[in-house]
Amino acid sequence: MNILLMGLPGAGKGTQSEQIANDYLVVHIATGDIFRQAIKEETPLGLEAKRYTDHGNLVPDEITNGLVRERLSQEDVKANGFMLDGYPRTIQQAKALSENMDSLGSKIDAVIYIDVDPEVLKARLSGRISCGNCGATYHKLYNPPKVEDTCDACGAHEFYQREDDKPEKVAHRINLQMESIQPILEYYEELGLLHRVNGDDSIDQVYNNIRKILG
Ligand code: ADP
Ligand code: ADP
Ligand code: ZN
Repeated sequence: MNILLMGLPGAGKGTQSEQIANDYLVVHIATGDIFRQAIKEETPLGLEAKRYTDHGNLVPDEITNGLVRERLSQEDVKANGFMLDGYPRTIQQAKALSENMDSLGSKIDAVIYIDVDPEVLKARLSGRISCGNCGATYHKLYNPPKVEDTCDACGAHEFYQREDDKPEKVAHRINLQMESIQPILEYYEELGLLHRVNGDDSIDQVYNNIRKILG
C-alpha cells in the first residue's frame, strides 16, 4: 500500500505516521525528517536545505523531488509500500510524484488530508517538543511523554524545540503552505484519491478515522 499523509504544519502528520507505520508496516518517509538529519550531519544536502528550513520556506522542488525519487526506488519501499509524510507540498512535486509512480509501475492508493483549524495549529507548534536522540515528537500539554522527561520510544531525557517552531516563524510557515496545498488537494480530489479527516479531534479519534479509510 502507498499512502500520502498531508496537512499543514502541526496537523499531526508525524504523530499519526508512527501508528500507521506500526500497523500497516509501510516505510515511513518524512521529507522534513530527512532534511533535519542531513542538517545535523552537515552534509551538502543539509547545508543547502538549512538555508530554507531555517526561515520556514520550502526547499526547492528540484532538490526535494530528486531526494524522494531516489528513496522511492529503494528495495524496502518496493517490497513494503510507503507512507509519504510532508510530500508533496507543491503542485510540481505532486506531478513529479505521479511521473515517478508511472515509471516505477506503481500507484498511490490513498491520500489523507488531516484538516486542522489554523489557530489550533499555532498552539500545537508552540508546545511541540522533540526527542534529541530519536526525533519522536510530543506536546508539552496535549501529548507529553508517559514518564516525565523520558522519551517513550527510546528512553532518552533530552528534548528540544525545533528552530522553525519558534512563535515568530510559525505563522509564516502556516500561511505559506496554506496557499501551496490547495491545488494539490484539488489534484488528488480529481483523481478520486483524496480523503479528509478532521484533525481537530483527539489523537486517537483521528487515528480511528484514518484506519477506517485504509481498512
Ligand atoms: P511540519 O512537521 O511542521 O509540517 P516538516 O518537518 O514536514 O514540518 O518540514 C520541516 C521543513 O522542511 C519545512 O518547513 C520545509 O522547509 C522543509 N520541507 C519538508 N518537506 C518539504 C517538501 N515536500 N518540500 C519542500 N520543503 C520541505
Ligand atoms: P506535523 O508532523 O503535521 O507537523 P505533529 O505530529 O508533529 O504534526 O504534531 C504537532 C504537535 O501537536 C505535536 O506536539 C503533537 O504532539 C501535537 N498533536 C498532534 N496531533 C494532535 C491532536 N489530535 N490533538 C492535540 N495535539 C496533537
Ligand atoms: Zn527518543
